[in-house]
Amino acid sequence: MQIALTAKIQLNMHNLNNERAEEIRRVPVLYKVKDKEGKGAYKLVEEAVAISGVMLKHYHFANMVEFLQNNNGKLCLICSRREAIRVPSKEIKKEDLANWLGIKENDKLLEDYTKIIWNKGEDEIIKNCAGEDVHGFLRPNPPLRRESLIKFSWMLPTYINELEDFGTPTPFTVLQHTRNIRNIPEKISTELKQMQMPYPRAYGSGVFAFSSIADLGKVGYSFTSKNVVLEEEERVLRRKAIILGYVPLVSGLAGASLARALPSVKIMELICVVVMDTPVSIPAPTSPIYDDYYPDLVNIYKGFANLTKAKVKIFSYGFQDKLDEIVELVNEPFDVFIKALKFFNLE
Ligand SMILES: [Zn+2]
Repeated sequence: MQIALTAKIQLNMHNLNNERAEEIRRVPVLYKVKDKEGKGAYKLVEEAVAISGVMLKHYHFANMVEFLQNNNGKLCLICSRREAIRVPSKEIKKEDLANWLGIKENDKLLEDYTKIIWNKGEDEIIKNCAGEDVHGFLRPNPPLRRESLIKFSWMLPTYINELEDFGTPTPFTVLQHTRNIRNIPEKISTELKQMQMPYPRAYGSGVFAFSSIADLGKVGYSFTSKNVVLEEEERVLRRKAIILGYVPLVSGLAGASLARALPSVKIMELICVVVMDTPVSIPAPTSPIYDDYYPDLVNIYKGFANLTKAKVKIFSYGFQDKLDEIVELVNEPFDVFIKALKFFNLE
């Protein structure tokens, strides 16, 4: 029971300064483009504006937790704060944890949490919290790790040949903003003066895309004991949370400064691949950053179905052509998720 997702979205004025202050993420990306004779050629864009997979995964985690909180899902003390951080090491004093969490050191919730997280194995930890189950964890001491069941690419700009005439396929700009104080008395502390300092923000615009895969079948499955440790009802809820966690992401909601730079978004193309009865992990989908990704993606999963005899369906939004029997075209963007929930019996 596995799922793959690709999203192609148009974003204008997205604040991409999202992990370090005042830094816009720019990374090398290789594209295949048409040269002047109309033939294919590779082009390396050395500084393509991008949003990291770390950021996408974090926001998926937060969306998933939001859904689970609204539906009585099991979450630990830390995940329910929507802060995706490492499992705290045993070396950290309980007093420090209590201080950070704003609770008493002998709080029962903290007692229960540390009892599990410091002393128990994978079975108990994933039973206790959907965060550790789905998004994985790493415990330094005693050492234990669970790989994330969900994986994300970076959100990268697609290369559009026509746009090259404007100079760069991934334009961005740094703008100054100012906070204003109406009148500043002459004798005033520097700190107060600084309250109205100008500050820069970086913004990017373009057609962006990301992809993700998730293994819904391993939800509630302990790799250590090779057992399913959850009730079916809780597994269903967590699987649903994985799929619904994607929803805000496909409208570009990831990153800093959303309060002042909610990206001007248009969802262009969404593809959701659903797979049942597969003996191996599914391949990652072809990324929409490439021009001809759609037929390529369909061929990959068609080939995968032939190879493994897995049951595969592809729900596509934004396309006119079915290309193959395993594809179903949908008219509304979120139909891809509705169909996926139905396919897995998670409604
Ligand atoms: Zn947790």
